[in-house]
Amino acid sequence: MPLARRRLDCCICIEKQTEEAVLALRGIFGLIQAGRDQHVPCGSFQSCSFEQSEKLRLYANHQGGYRVRCPFCAHNIASDFSKSVHLWRAGAAFSMTCPSCAEVYSLSKAQGIPPFAFSRAAIVLHDVEVADIGDFWHAQIREKLGEYHAIFRRVG
Ligand SMILES: [Zn+2]
Repeated sequence: MPLARRRLDCCICIEKQTEEAVLALRGIFGLIQAGRDQHVPCGSFQSCSFEQSEKLRLYANHQGGYRVRCPFCAHNIASDFSKSVHLWRAGAAFSMTCPSCAEVYSLSKAQGIPPFAFSRAAIVLHDVEVADIGDFWHAQIREKLGEYHAIFRRVG
């Protein structure tokens, strides 16, 4: 019996949360679908989908979770971050205060290990082969979109 392999997804997220960035990302989604027989991001993938929402969503690792560090003092802020995300979802500000150095910053500035991102649009490549988008698509995305985040998540 083959071992059950944990699935790895790649979520391509936008840096600037503008309508232009969402449109550019949607264009890249079309290119990835159209070019599957030539250049495939992440070695290979099973399927891909485009997600879009009015509010920001947190794209982060599932299986095994992630650690969070303060961008100013590198203190482990996992529990304060998680509390602040809950409060933000309940209507509070999109920010937090470091329990160690008392800096106040946007939740998207918190440093995830492995990296995570808040985004209102994402291309999700399901069940990729390798955790690397590849040179071809990296260059394509940089040219059409500019800054972006490739978030890899293990799904149990
Ligand atoms: Zn700090």
